[in-house]
Amino acid sequence: MLSNSLVELDRQHLIHPLASPRGHERSGVRVLASAKGATLTDGEGHRLLDGFAGLWCVNAGYGHESVVEAAAEQMRRLPYATGYFDMGSEPAIRLAAELAERAPGDLDHVYFTLGGSDAVDSTIRFIRYYNHARGTPQKDQFISLAQGFHGSSTAGAGLTALPGFHFGFGVPFDWQHKISSHYVYRNPVGQDPAAIIAASVAELRAKVEELGAERVAAFYAEPIQGSGGVLVPPAGWMKAMAEACREMDILFVADEVITAFGRTGPLFASEDEGIVPDFITVAKGLTSGYAPLGAVLMADHVYQAIADGAGEALIGHGYTYSGHPVSAAVGLAVLRLYEDGGLLENGRKAGARLMAGLHGLSDHPLVGDVRGRGMLAAIELVTDKAAKTPLPAAAEASRRIFDRAYRAGLIVRAFANGAIGFAPPLCCTPEEIDEMVARTLRVLDETL
Ligand code: PLP
Repeated sequence: MLSNSLVELDRQHLIHPLASPRGHERSGVRVLASAKGATLTDGEGHRLLDGFAGLWCVNAGYGHESVVEAAAEQMRRLPYATGYFDMGSEPAIRLAAELAERAPGDLDHVYFTLGGSDAVDSTIRFIRYYNHARGTPQKDQFISLAQGFHGSSTAGAGLTALPGFHFGFGVPFDWQHKISSHYVYRNPVGQDPAAIIAASVAELRAKVEELGAERVAAFYAEPIQGSGGVLVPPAGWMKAMAEACREMDILFVADEVITAFGRTGPLFASEDEGIVPDFITVAKGLTSGYAPLGAVLMADHVYQAIADGAGEALIGHGYTYSGHPVSAAVGLAVLRLYEDGGLLENGRKAGARLMAGLHGLSDHPLVGDVRGRGMLAAIELVTDKAAKTPLPAAAEASRRIFDRAYRAGLIVRAFANGAIGFAPPLCCTPEEIDEMVARTLRVLDETL
Protein backbone atom coordinates (compact mmCIF):
# COMPACT_ATOMS: atom_id res chain seq x y z
CA MET A 1 0.00 0.00 0.00
CA LEU A 2 1.11 3.50 -0.77
CA SER A 3 2.13 5.49 2.28
CA ASN A 4 0.79 9.01 2.62
CA SER A 5 4.29 10.25 3.27
CA LEU A 6 5.33 9.29 -0.28
CA VAL A 7 2.54 11.41 -1.74
CA GLU A 8 3.58 14.26 0.51
CA LEU A 9 7.28 13.93 -0.39
CA ASP A 10 6.32 14.01 -4.06
CA ARG A 11 4.18 17.10 -3.55
CA GLN A 12 7.00 18.92 -1.82
CA HIS A 13 10.02 17.91 -3.88
CA LEU A 14 9.44 16.28 -7.26
CA ILE A 15 8.86 18.52 -10.27
CA HIS A 16 6.91 16.41 -12.79
CA PRO A 17 7.39 16.68 -16.56
CA LEU A 18 4.49 18.14 -18.52
CA ALA A 19 2.45 18.96 -15.41
CA SER A 20 0.71 21.91 -13.88
CA PRO A 21 2.55 22.33 -10.56
CA ARG A 22 -0.49 23.76 -8.74
CA GLY A 23 -2.83 21.20 -10.31
CA HIS A 24 -0.45 18.42 -9.32
CA GLU A 25 -0.14 19.73 -5.77
CA ARG A 26 -3.94 19.43 -5.53
CA SER A 27 -4.35 16.06 -7.24
CA GLY A 28 -1.29 14.32 -5.79
CA VAL A 29 0.73 11.57 -7.45
CA ARG A 30 -0.40 8.15 -8.64
CA VAL A 31 2.63 6.00 -7.97
CA LEU A 32 3.17 3.12 -10.38
CA ALA A 33 4.72 0.32 -8.40
CA SER A 34 5.31 -2.75 -10.58
CA ALA A 35 4.43 -4.31 -13.92
CA LYS A 36 4.44 -7.53 -15.90
CA GLY A 37 3.57 -8.00 -19.58
CA ALA A 38 0.97 -5.33 -20.39
CA THR A 39 -0.32 -4.91 -16.82
CA LEU A 40 0.76 -2.25 -14.35
CA THR A 41 0.05 -2.25 -10.63
CA ASP A 42 -0.17 1.07 -8.82
CA GLY A 43 0.76 1.92 -5.25
CA GLU A 44 -2.82 1.23 -4.11
CA GLY A 45 -2.72 -2.25 -5.62
CA HIS A 46 -4.97 -1.40 -8.61
CA ARG A 47 -4.18 -3.40 -11.74
CA LEU A 48 -4.18 -1.41 -14.97
CA LEU A 49 -3.93 -2.51 -18.59
CA ASP A 50 -1.27 -0.30 -20.10
CA GLY A 51 -2.83 0.83 -23.36
CA PHE A 52 -0.06 3.35 -23.85
CA ALA A 53 3.13 1.31 -23.24
CA GLY A 54 4.27 3.80 -20.59
CA LEU A 55 4.76 6.82 -22.84
CA TRP A 56 4.61 4.92 -26.16
CA CYS A 57 7.89 3.32 -25.30
CA VAL A 58 7.58 -0.05 -23.55
CA ASN A 59 7.01 -1.80 -26.87
CA ALA A 60 8.27 -5.15 -25.57
CA GLY A 61 6.08 -5.06 -22.46
CA TYR A 62 7.28 -5.26 -18.87
CA GLY A 63 9.32 -7.84 -17.01
CA HIS A 64 11.55 -9.44 -19.65
CA GLU A 65 14.27 -11.25 -17.71
CA SER A 66 16.62 -11.37 -20.72
CA VAL A 67 16.72 -7.55 -20.73
CA VAL A 68 17.20 -7.33 -16.97
CA GLU A 69 20.04 -9.87 -17.20
CA ALA A 70 21.72 -8.01 -20.08
CA ALA A 71 21.70 -4.78 -18.04
CA ALA A 72 22.94 -6.48 -14.85
CA GLU A 73 25.70 -8.31 -16.68
CA GLN A 74 26.87 -5.10 -18.38
CA MET A 75 26.78 -3.21 -15.06
CA ARG A 76 28.95 -5.88 -13.48
CA ARG A 77 31.45 -5.95 -16.35
CA LEU A 78 31.64 -2.28 -17.36
CA PRO A 79 28.96 0.10 -16.12
CA TYR A 80 30.34 3.09 -18.01
CA ALA A 81 32.62 3.78 -20.94
CA THR A 82 32.99 7.11 -22.68
CA GLY A 83 32.87 7.46 -26.42
CA TYR A 84 35.20 10.47 -26.11
CA PHE A 85 38.94 10.30 -26.89
CA ASP A 86 38.41 7.57 -29.49
CA MET A 87 37.26 5.10 -26.84
CA GLY A 88 34.07 3.04 -26.79
CA SER A 89 32.34 -0.09 -25.55
CA GLU A 90 31.35 -3.32 -27.24
CA PRO A 91 27.57 -2.95 -26.75
CA ALA A 92 27.52 0.57 -28.25
CA ILE A 93 29.53 -0.55 -31.28
CA ARG A 94 27.42 -3.68 -31.79
CA LEU A 95 24.12 -1.83 -31.40
CA ALA A 96 25.23 0.83 -33.91
CA ALA A 97 26.15 -1.91 -36.38
CA GLU A 98 22.87 -3.78 -35.87
CA LEU A 99 20.81 -0.61 -36.35
CA ALA A 100 22.78 0.33 -39.48
CA GLU A 101 22.24 -3.17 -40.89
CA ARG A 102 18.47 -2.93 -40.41
CA ALA A 103 17.91 0.74 -41.25
CA PRO A 104 16.65 1.62 -44.74
CA GLY A 105 19.15 2.33 -47.52
CA ASP A 106 22.45 3.97 -46.63
CA LEU A 107 21.51 5.10 -43.09
CA ASP A 108 24.76 3.49 -42.01
CA HIS A 109 25.99 5.83 -39.28
CA VAL A 110 24.62 6.07 -35.75
CA TYR A 111 25.04 8.75 -33.09
CA PHE A 112 23.68 7.83 -29.64
CA THR A 113 21.84 10.23 -27.38
CA LEU A 114 19.87 9.81 -24.15
CA GLY A 115 16.40 10.11 -25.64
CA GLY A 116 14.31 11.64 -28.40
CA SER A 117 14.64 15.37 -27.66
CA ASP A 118 18.42 15.31 -27.75
CA ALA A 119 18.31 13.08 -30.85
CA VAL A 120 16.27 15.79 -32.63
CA ASP A 121 18.55 18.49 -31.20
CA SER A 122 21.57 16.57 -32.49
CA THR A 123 20.13 16.48 -36.01
CA ILE A 124 19.77 20.27 -35.92
CA ARG A 125 23.43 20.62 -34.95
CA PHE A 126 24.61 18.04 -37.49
CA ILE A 127 22.56 19.64 -40.27
CA ARG A 128 24.00 23.07 -39.52
CA TYR A 129 27.49 21.54 -39.43
CA TYR A 130 26.84 19.66 -42.70
CA ASN A 131 25.90 22.85 -44.48
CA HIS A 132 28.99 24.63 -43.18
CA ALA A 133 31.10 21.68 -44.24
CA ARG A 134 29.82 21.71 -47.80
CA GLY A 135 30.00 25.48 -48.18
CA THR A 136 26.27 26.31 -47.90
CA PRO A 137 26.10 27.87 -44.39
CA GLN A 138 23.24 30.12 -45.48
CA LYS A 139 21.02 27.00 -45.47
CA ASP A 140 19.88 27.54 -41.90
CA GLN A 141 16.06 27.49 -42.04
CA PHE A 142 14.06 24.50 -40.79
CA ILE A 143 10.48 23.47 -41.62
CA SER A 144 8.15 21.12 -39.76
CA LEU A 145 4.44 20.37 -39.56
CA ALA A 146 1.58 21.83 -37.58
CA GLN A 147 0.47 19.33 -34.90
CA GLY A 148 4.01 17.91 -34.97
CA PHE A 149 6.02 16.97 -31.91
CA HIS A 150 9.80 16.81 -31.91
CA GLY A 151 10.65 17.01 -28.22
CA SER A 152 11.22 19.81 -25.79
CA SER A 153 14.87 20.81 -26.06
CA THR A 154 15.55 24.53 -26.44
CA ALA A 155 15.96 24.28 -30.22
CA GLY A 156 13.82 21.22 -30.96
CA ALA A 157 10.79 22.68 -29.17
CA GLY A 158 10.59 25.14 -32.06
CA LEU A 159 10.10 22.25 -34.51
CA THR A 160 7.39 21.02 -32.16
CA ALA A 161 4.11 22.71 -33.07
CA LEU A 162 2.17 22.21 -29.84
CA PRO A 163 1.74 25.66 -28.25
CA GLY A 164 2.05 24.34 -24.69
CA PHE A 165 5.72 23.65 -25.40
CA HIS A 166 6.35 27.23 -26.56
CA PHE A 167 4.60 29.58 -24.17
CA GLY A 168 7.06 31.37 -21.91
CA PHE A 169 10.17 29.63 -23.25
CA GLY A 170 11.57 32.01 -25.91
CA VAL A 171 11.54 29.43 -28.71
CA PRO A 172 13.80 30.32 -31.70
CA PHE A 173 11.05 30.78 -34.28
CA ASP A 174 13.17 33.06 -36.47
CA TRP A 175 14.65 30.00 -38.22
CA GLN A 176 11.86 27.47 -37.63
CA HIS A 177 8.74 27.42 -39.78
CA LYS A 178 5.55 25.37 -40.04
CA ILE A 179 3.32 24.10 -42.79
CA SER A 180 -0.12 22.52 -42.28
CA SER A 181 -0.52 18.95 -41.12
CA HIS A 182 -2.12 16.28 -43.32
CA TYR A 183 -4.72 15.79 -40.49
CA VAL A 184 -7.07 13.75 -42.72
CA TYR A 185 -10.18 14.03 -40.52
CA ARG A 186 -10.08 17.82 -40.45
CA ASN A 187 -8.24 18.69 -43.65
CA PRO A 188 -9.70 21.77 -45.40
CA VAL A 189 -9.17 20.15 -48.82
CA GLY A 190 -11.36 17.17 -47.81
CA GLN A 191 -10.40 13.55 -47.21
CA ASP A 192 -9.28 12.47 -50.67
CA PRO A 193 -5.72 11.10 -50.22
CA ALA A 194 -4.39 12.43 -53.54
CA ALA A 195 -5.75 15.92 -52.84
CA ILE A 196 -4.20 15.94 -49.35
CA ILE A 197 -0.81 14.84 -50.66
CA ALA A 198 -0.91 17.41 -53.47
CA ALA A 199 -1.86 20.17 -51.01
CA SER A 200 0.98 19.27 -48.62
CA VAL A 201 3.58 19.16 -51.40
CA ALA A 202 2.32 22.46 -52.78
CA GLU A 203 2.46 24.10 -49.36
CA LEU A 204 5.99 22.82 -48.78
CA ARG A 205 7.10 24.17 -52.16
CA ALA A 206 5.44 27.52 -51.47
CA LYS A 207 7.12 27.79 -48.05
CA VAL A 208 10.50 26.97 -49.59
CA GLU A 209 9.95 29.55 -52.30
CA GLU A 210 8.98 32.15 -49.70
CA LEU A 211 12.13 31.45 -47.64
CA GLY A 212 14.38 30.80 -50.66
CA ALA A 213 15.51 27.23 -51.46
CA GLU A 214 19.11 28.30 -50.97
CA ARG A 215 18.26 29.05 -47.32
CA VAL A 216 16.23 25.95 -46.36
CA ALA A 217 18.20 23.21 -44.63
CA ALA A 218 15.70 20.53 -43.65
CA PHE A 219 12.13 19.34 -43.36
CA TYR A 220 11.02 17.23 -40.36
CA ALA A 221 8.03 14.90 -40.17
CA GLU A 222 6.85 12.01 -38.03
CA PRO A 223 5.62 9.07 -40.16
CA ILE A 224 2.51 9.25 -37.97
CA GLN A 225 2.09 12.39 -35.87
CA GLY A 226 1.94 11.10 -32.31
CA SER A 227 1.45 13.79 -29.68
CA GLY A 228 -0.61 15.86 -32.12
CA GLY A 229 -3.33 13.19 -31.72
CA VAL A 230 -2.11 10.13 -33.74
CA LEU A 231 -2.58 11.70 -37.17
CA VAL A 232 -1.99 9.17 -39.94
CA PRO A 233 -1.08 10.60 -43.34
CA PRO A 234 -2.53 9.06 -46.50
CA ALA A 235 -0.37 6.28 -47.99
CA GLY A 236 2.24 7.91 -50.21
CA TRP A 237 2.38 11.18 -48.25
CA MET A 238 5.85 10.62 -46.72
CA LYS A 239 7.22 9.47 -50.06
CA ALA A 240 5.88 12.52 -51.90
CA MET A 241 7.30 14.89 -49.27
CA ALA A 242 10.67 13.11 -49.26
CA GLU A 243 10.87 13.34 -53.06
CA ALA A 244 9.97 17.04 -53.05
CA CYS A 245 12.72 17.67 -50.47
CA ARG A 246 15.32 15.81 -52.51
CA GLU A 247 14.39 17.77 -55.61
CA MET A 248 14.85 21.05 -53.72
CA ASP A 249 18.14 19.97 -52.02
CA ILE A 250 16.51 19.92 -48.59
CA LEU A 251 17.34 17.21 -46.07
CA PHE A 252 14.43 15.02 -45.01
CA VAL A 253 14.34 13.97 -41.35
CA ALA A 254 11.93 11.22 -40.33
CA ASP A 255 11.34 11.54 -36.60
CA GLU A 256 10.61 7.94 -35.68
CA VAL A 257 10.91 8.34 -31.91
CA ILE A 258 7.43 6.82 -31.59
CA THR A 259 6.96 4.93 -34.85
CA ALA A 260 10.13 2.81 -34.92
CA PHE A 261 10.56 -0.65 -33.42
CA GLY A 262 7.35 -2.30 -34.45
CA ARG A 263 4.88 0.39 -33.44
CA THR A 264 3.41 0.51 -36.98
CA GLY A 265 4.53 -3.02 -37.96
CA PRO A 266 8.11 -3.02 -39.30
CA LEU A 267 11.25 -2.01 -37.40
CA PHE A 268 11.12 1.46 -39.00
CA ALA A 269 7.88 3.07 -40.23
CA SER A 270 9.87 4.57 -43.14
CA GLU A 271 9.79 1.02 -44.53
CA ASP A 272 5.99 1.31 -44.82
CA GLU A 273 6.59 3.91 -47.54
CA GLY A 274 9.81 2.46 -48.94
CA ILE A 275 11.67 5.71 -48.30
CA VAL A 276 15.26 6.41 -47.26
CA PRO A 277 15.32 9.66 -45.27
CA ASP A 278 18.58 11.55 -44.78
CA PHE A 279 18.17 11.13 -41.02
CA ILE A 280 15.98 8.97 -38.80
CA THR A 281 15.68 9.79 -35.11
CA VAL A 282 14.74 7.00 -32.69
CA ALA A 283 14.44 6.52 -28.91
CA LYS A 284 11.62 4.95 -26.82
CA GLY A 285 11.27 1.45 -28.38
CA LEU A 286 15.04 1.33 -28.94
CA THR A 287 15.36 0.06 -25.36
CA SER A 288 11.63 -0.40 -24.85
CA GLY A 289 11.93 2.10 -22.01
CA TYR A 290 14.10 -0.23 -19.87
CA ALA A 291 16.95 2.34 -19.99
CA PRO A 292 17.28 5.83 -21.50
CA LEU A 293 18.68 5.82 -25.03
CA GLY A 294 18.08 7.62 -28.30
CA ALA A 295 19.88 7.63 -31.63
CA VAL A 296 20.38 9.61 -34.79
CA LEU A 297 20.70 7.44 -37.90
CA MET A 298 22.60 9.39 -40.54
CA ALA A 299 22.80 8.74 -44.29
CA ASP A 300 26.21 8.01 -45.71
CA HIS A 301 26.31 11.07 -47.99
CA VAL A 302 25.67 13.36 -44.97
CA TYR A 303 28.26 11.56 -42.85
CA GLN A 304 30.90 11.77 -45.60
CA ALA A 305 30.32 15.51 -46.10
CA ILE A 306 30.55 16.15 -42.34
CA ALA A 307 33.66 13.99 -41.97
CA ASP A 308 35.38 15.58 -44.98
CA GLY A 309 34.46 19.05 -43.75
CA ALA A 310 35.85 18.40 -40.26
CA GLY A 311 39.08 16.85 -41.48
CA GLU A 312 41.27 16.35 -38.39
CA ALA A 313 39.25 18.80 -36.26
CA LEU A 314 37.01 17.54 -33.45
CA ILE A 315 33.28 17.95 -33.98
CA GLY A 316 32.19 19.66 -30.78
CA HIS A 317 29.02 17.74 -30.11
CA GLY A 318 28.88 15.08 -27.41
CA TYR A 319 27.30 13.92 -24.18
CA THR A 320 28.88 12.13 -21.23
CA TYR A 321 26.37 9.36 -21.71
CA SER A 322 26.44 9.07 -25.55
CA GLY A 323 26.36 5.33 -26.21
CA HIS A 324 26.04 4.37 -22.55
CA PRO A 325 27.07 0.69 -22.42
CA VAL A 326 24.24 -0.42 -20.12
CA SER A 327 21.60 1.25 -22.29
CA ALA A 328 23.24 -0.19 -25.40
CA ALA A 329 23.29 -3.70 -23.87
CA VAL A 330 19.59 -3.26 -23.12
CA GLY A 331 19.02 -2.12 -26.72
CA LEU A 332 20.70 -5.28 -28.05
CA ALA A 333 18.60 -7.52 -25.78
CA VAL A 334 15.40 -5.74 -26.81
CA LEU A 335 16.27 -6.06 -30.51
CA ARG A 336 16.48 -9.84 -29.97
CA LEU A 337 12.97 -9.78 -28.51
CA TYR A 338 11.53 -7.88 -31.47
CA GLU A 339 13.00 -10.30 -33.96
CA ASP A 340 13.84 -13.74 -32.50
CA GLY A 341 11.29 -13.33 -29.68
CA GLY A 342 8.49 -12.81 -32.21
CA LEU A 343 7.39 -9.42 -30.85
CA LEU A 344 7.18 -7.72 -34.23
CA GLU A 345 5.04 -10.57 -35.47
CA ASN A 346 2.78 -10.52 -32.40
CA GLY A 347 2.52 -6.73 -32.64
CA ARG A 348 1.27 -6.99 -36.24
CA LYS A 349 -1.49 -9.40 -35.24
CA ALA A 350 -2.41 -7.48 -32.10
CA GLY A 351 -2.39 -4.22 -34.09
CA ALA A 352 -4.87 -5.61 -36.62
CA ARG A 353 -7.10 -6.73 -33.74
CA LEU A 354 -6.82 -3.34 -32.04
CA MET A 355 -7.77 -1.48 -35.22
CA ALA A 356 -10.72 -3.83 -35.82
CA GLY A 357 -11.87 -3.41 -32.22
CA LEU A 358 -11.66 0.39 -32.38
CA HIS A 359 -13.47 0.47 -35.73
CA GLY A 360 -16.18 -1.50 -33.92
CA LEU A 361 -16.70 1.63 -31.76
CA SER A 362 -17.36 3.83 -34.83
CA ASP A 363 -21.11 3.77 -34.29
CA HIS A 364 -20.84 5.14 -30.78
CA PRO A 365 -22.43 8.61 -30.73
CA LEU A 366 -19.20 10.22 -29.45
CA VAL A 367 -16.77 8.66 -31.93
CA GLY A 368 -16.10 10.94 -34.89
CA ASP A 369 -12.97 9.30 -36.25
CA VAL A 370 -11.00 6.08 -35.82
CA ARG A 371 -7.46 6.07 -37.18
CA GLY A 372 -4.17 4.29 -36.76
CA ARG A 373 -1.67 1.84 -38.13
CA GLY A 374 -0.43 -1.23 -36.27
CA MET A 375 -0.24 -0.67 -32.54
CA LEU A 376 -0.65 3.10 -32.81
CA ALA A 377 -4.21 4.35 -32.92
CA ALA A 378 -6.70 6.99 -31.79
CA ILE A 379 -10.38 7.69 -31.67
CA GLU A 380 -11.41 11.33 -31.87
CA LEU A 381 -14.48 12.28 -29.86
CA VAL A 382 -17.05 14.80 -31.08
CA THR A 383 -20.49 15.90 -29.93
CA ASP A 384 -21.90 16.10 -33.49
CA LYS A 385 -20.56 13.64 -36.03
CA ALA A 386 -21.79 15.46 -39.13
CA ALA A 387 -20.40 18.82 -38.02
CA LYS A 388 -17.33 17.19 -36.38
CA THR A 389 -17.92 19.40 -33.33
CA PRO A 390 -15.14 18.91 -30.77
CA LEU A 391 -16.07 18.10 -27.17
CA PRO A 392 -16.69 21.32 -25.23
CA ALA A 393 -13.64 22.33 -23.19
CA ALA A 394 -11.78 19.46 -24.85
CA ALA A 395 -8.65 19.78 -22.70
CA GLU A 396 -10.71 19.55 -19.50
CA ALA A 397 -12.81 16.73 -20.97
CA SER A 398 -9.71 14.77 -21.90
CA ARG A 399 -8.48 14.96 -18.30
CA ARG A 400 -11.80 13.49 -17.13
CA ILE A 401 -11.55 10.74 -19.75
CA PHE A 402 -8.08 9.82 -18.50
CA ASP A 403 -9.43 9.62 -14.93
CA ARG A 404 -12.41 7.49 -15.98
CA ALA A 405 -10.17 5.14 -17.95
CA TYR A 406 -7.83 4.83 -14.98
CA ARG A 407 -10.76 3.92 -12.74
CA ALA A 408 -11.85 1.37 -15.37
CA GLY A 409 -8.35 -0.19 -15.13
CA LEU A 410 -6.96 1.20 -18.39
CA ILE A 411 -4.21 3.65 -19.19
CA VAL A 412 -4.67 5.59 -22.42
CA ARG A 413 -3.54 9.02 -23.58
CA ALA A 414 -6.26 11.65 -23.62
CA PHE A 415 -5.18 14.41 -26.02
CA ALA A 416 -6.11 18.05 -25.61
CA ASN A 417 -8.23 17.92 -28.81
CA GLY A 418 -10.50 15.24 -27.36
CA ALA A 419 -8.81 12.29 -29.05
CA ILE A 420 -7.95 9.14 -27.08
CA GLY A 421 -4.64 7.54 -28.05
CA PHE A 422 -3.60 3.88 -27.90
CA ALA A 423 -0.08 2.49 -28.15
CA PRO A 424 -0.15 -0.82 -26.28
CA PRO A 425 2.90 -3.05 -25.80
CA LEU A 426 3.46 -5.35 -28.79
CA CYS A 427 3.27 -8.37 -26.48
CA CYS A 428 -0.49 -7.97 -25.87
CA THR A 429 -2.62 -11.09 -26.11
CA PRO A 430 -5.89 -11.03 -28.11
CA GLU A 431 -7.78 -11.07 -24.79
CA GLU A 432 -5.87 -8.02 -23.53
CA ILE A 433 -6.62 -6.10 -26.73
CA ASP A 434 -10.32 -7.01 -26.51
CA GLU A 435 -10.39 -5.94 -22.87
CA MET A 436 -8.79 -2.57 -23.73
CA VAL A 437 -11.52 -1.96 -26.30
CA ALA A 438 -14.26 -3.10 -23.89
CA ARG A 439 -12.98 -0.77 -21.15
CA THR A 440 -12.78 2.08 -23.67
CA LEU A 441 -16.44 1.52 -24.53
CA ARG A 442 -17.33 1.76 -20.83
CA VAL A 443 -15.44 5.06 -20.62
CA LEU A 444 -17.28 6.40 -23.70
CA ASP A 445 -20.65 5.42 -22.25
CA GLU A 446 -19.78 7.19 -19.00
CA THR A 447 -18.75 10.28 -20.98
CA LEU A 448 -22.05 10.53 -22.92
N1 PLP B 1 10.12 13.14 -31.22
C1 PLP B 1 8.91 12.55 -31.17
C2 PLP B 1 8.22 12.21 -32.45
C3 PLP B 1 8.34 12.22 -29.94
O1 PLP B 1 7.12 11.67 -29.90
C4 PLP B 1 9.06 12.52 -28.76
C5 PLP B 1 8.48 12.18 -27.44
O2 PLP B 1 7.36 11.74 -27.31
C6 PLP B 1 10.29 13.14 -28.86
C7 PLP B 1 10.80 13.44 -30.10
C8 PLP B 1 11.07 13.49 -27.63
O3 PLP B 1 11.55 12.33 -27.03
P1 PLP B 1 11.99 12.32 -25.50
O4 PLP B 1 10.76 12.50 -24.71
O5 PLP B 1 12.64 10.97 -25.34
O6 PLP B 1 12.97 13.42 -25.30
